[in-house]
Amino acid sequence: MGKSMSMAEAIMTTGAPPADLYRLITENVCDGVLYIGFGDTCQYASPSVEEIIGRDATAMFGLSILDLVHPDDKAQVHRHYEELIGGSRDRFTVEFRAAHSNGRWIWLEASARAVTGGDGRSAVTSVRDIRWRKQLEAQLLEALTEAEEKAEELERLATTDMLTGLANRRRFLGELDSAAQGSAALAICDIDHFKRINDLYGHAAGDEALRCFAEVAQRAFPNGLVGRIGGEEFAILLPEASLAMAVTQCEAFLAELGRQSWRLSSGDHVTLGASIGVATTPCADASELMLRADRLLYVAKRSGRARVAAECSGERRAVA
Ligand code: GH3
Ligand code: MG
Ligand code: MG
Repeated sequence: MGKSMSMAEAIMTTGAPPADLYRLITENVCDGVLYIGFGDTCQYASPSVEEIIGRDATAMFGLSILDLVHPDDKAQVHRHYEELIGGSRDRFTVEFRAAHSNGRWIWLEASARAVTGGDGRSAVTSVRDIRWRKQLEAQLLEALTEAEEKAEELERLATTDMLTGLANRRRFLGELDSAAQGSAALAICDIDHFKRINDLYGHAAGDEALRCFAEVAQRAFPNGLVGRIGGEEFAILLPEASLAMAVTQCEAFLAELGRQSWRLSSGDHVTLGASIGVATTPCADASELMLRADRLLYVAKRSGRARVAAECSGERRAVA
């Protein structure tokens, strides 16, 4: 024959690939292959390392791998190699930024495996360029953050009354549903003779007055949830408040409202008054509590407005 054995023949004959084949693989594999000896110095770098970080593979000999690692990633990479060489782990995969010869930092993923030989432990590391993956991850994260922000904004729009910034009816009723199971007071509040403001000064002035009202209400009930549940109708949920506490707070609010006078953009001055009905738990459900507070509101209206009507504690009899 006189012809040297092909690699396939060599494998068939010896049962193992010859050294040539190992070299062929190592030197042509797409990932870069590094052999890191004792003390984290590079003993061998495959030619593909050059394609990845733009550095001559032969010039890598004797370099500390850490010299190429971004300062912020150095501690992490160092710890991984230390553990591997020290024997507390046998393999690791780590992502880090490495200095490309063009002066840029590029993202690499290194997978290392411990090799135990006569000199102690060393590491065979394969490195691959993961720039595109990192870019995709960053784009995905950005898209996710944007989607989350949009969802939050939609949720805010769906639960906020746009005129006053208060909780809208939907949100208020949702909160009331949960609160109705525990201990809470509910006040329903309707502005007195509000139609006159619209009739006298126009709808825009009416809107302005509603915003002024909402501001005073929010200040008056710092521990409660104030919602706009209808045109000039508001509701206040006071968790854990007794009937007496709720009535006192509502009366203080009406007193404060009476002291305020607003100069609207039109130049007109307005004052506002309101009537309030207060009911407390226990109740069958939120609708029943609403119904009771609403009935009391109309008791307050019929009794002359600008007042609070509440149930007598113990018996559900309306008093003005
Ligand atoms: P009462 O003391 O009996 O409650 O009298 P009122 O005038 O407050 O009640 P009425 O139900 O007669 O009128 C409520 C008015 O509120 C009528 C409606 O045009 C006005 N309104 C409802 N929503 C808005 C709004 O968003 N902006 C403005 N400017 N007015 C509104
Ligand atoms: Mg009204
Ligand atoms: Mg009304």
